Amino acid sequence: MEERKRIGELLLEAGVISADQLSEALAEQLRSGGRLCYNLIRLGHMKADDLVGFLRDQFGVAAVNLERYQVPEAVLRLIPATFARERRVVPLHVLGNALTVALLDPSRADDIAAIREITGLEPEPVICPEAALEAALLRFYPLGISVVTSGEGVLELDEEWDARNAALPDEPAVLSAEDWLRRFILQAVRRRSREIHLEASEAGLRARYRVRGVLQDGDTAPPELRRCISRRFLSIAGIPAATSGFAPGEGRFRIHVRGRWLRATLSAFPTLFGERLVIKIVDESLLAREFQELGMSKDVADEAQRLLACRHGVLLVNAPPGQGRRTTFYSMLAHLKGEGGRNIMTLESPVRFPIAGVSQSQVGGAAGLDFVAGLKSILHQEPDVVGLTDVPDRATLEMVFAAGRRCLVVALFGFRDNQQALEWIRDAGVSAATMGLLLRGVLAQRLLPKICSACREPLAEPVRLIEGIRGRESDELAFYTGGGCEQCGGTGRAGRVAIFELLSFREDLRDRLLHGDPSQVLLEEAQRLGMWSLREDGILKASQGLVDIREVLEATAADGSIPG
Ligand SMILES: [Zn+2]
Repeated sequence: MEERKRIGELLLEAGVISADQLSEALAEQLRSGGRLCYNLIRLGHMKADDLVGFLRDQFGVAAVNLERYQVPEAVLRLIPATFARERRVVPLHVLGNALTVALLDPSRADDIAAIREITGLEPEPVICPEAALEAALLRFYPLGISVVTSGEGVLELDEEWDARNAALPDEPAVLSAEDWLRRFILQAVRRRSREIHLEASEAGLRARYRVRGVLQDGDTAPPELRRCISRRFLSIAGIPAATSGFAPGEGRFRIHVRGRWLRATLSAFPTLFGERLVIKIVDESLLAREFQELGMSKDVADEAQRLLACRHGVLLVNAPPGQGRRTTFYSMLAHLKGEGGRNIMTLESPVRFPIAGVSQSQVGGAAGLDFVAGLKSILHQEPDVVGLTDVPDRATLEMVFAAGRRCLVVALFGFRDNQQALEWIRDAGVSAATMGLLLRGVLAQRLLPKICSACREPLAEPVRLIEGIRGRESDELAFYTGGGCEQCGGTGRAGRVAIFELLSFREDLRDRLLHGDPSQVLLEEAQRLGMWSLREDGILKASQGLVDIREVLEATAADGSIPG
């Protein structure tokens, strides 16, 4: 309204119209709607060409005749049809970072800003008479081909789109930015990849998918859609567009594909040709899984559940990033939630996976919360369980143990093995008395590729272990591998399995911890008392045909408890 009024006054000042004509047009606008300029023209107070001429002079922008103008498909697709029709804008061409766009009224700053946000390009307006623009809209954006997006952080990959996408030729030029968005996600789902990397380069936006730890090449979206695609991803993930240039950011969205809900987190990092995006996908059905399904043996799962039943103390999940510790963390929270009756709160950096019934907060977000300040505040909320996705420093560690006196703290550690974790806690100055009193357990884990069950076969060359496990000689153990088949794309692997080592401080071991025994002694004693080391758990799972023994030995090479 403000803009409309302003342009009326400008026309008045310039002597294009009279004061009476302006009030008449304003009254008409109130009565029958439409733009002021349109009403002025309709009432015969000025000609469409007068308006174009005036705007051109006033805003220093060119006028354009769209009648014979041809706009490349790729440029049209920069602006969604619904938006183009609603705001009456037509993109014309892209030159470098600039998008020339035809519109009715260059004084409408919100339209310009919206185009900037949608396309990631700097709009250069040119003006065009209304009738010609309407005709161009009909020509370029015929009704019925608009790509509807929810804009609510949900990416719908419905059957219809799926079918249409399958029918589309693999010709990148015909794909819109919206199509690319879905194509990237769907390809990840098809490849069973949980991690998509989108890298902006001169050649365009290249997708790579992490499958079984390795990045596989995917398609490259053309350079003119580069920014548009990444801006759309940012917008879906709720990351505000930076006012100037790029800014790093993290957000999340949900994906609905073939009746399944997936959670996705998006991390954006500025690079020379635009944001580099990493999208991680989590299957929501994972949460419902019991510990055994994470690959925990019954003994380990039982013990973990016993530890989670503690009313206070500290339980650590310890593994380098990328070893599935977040999945374990969320499964534990889901398990605790299932028990009911507990106030569960988390501090995460960032929240990867919203769980209903758990109060999750993000550290380092707009609120500027850090782990120490966050933990202090959370304790006022009388939590029964607090989950932390990181213990970045000594101050946080101190707070973790302080909180452990009042509730159960489940925290993620990133050390290679449990011995390192224990040593770090000691080196950070936590006393033996505090550790003995509060440290309930440390769970180490590794992810290993799972042998494809369709092509599993005995390992041809024997692997000799110096020791067997649990009274079984190495000779008695059979090992397996995957020969490669159609189902696993010839890799012999499908999915992943975790191996665990749960160091639980009960009775005897707790006394030793209180006494301040060296961590290596503690671990040896734990094994004597029945703890399975990472390597033993791996050997067991290899003998069950779940994983390849060679990959177990490699993943646990530094473990040292049984020499390979
Ligand atoms: Zn196979």
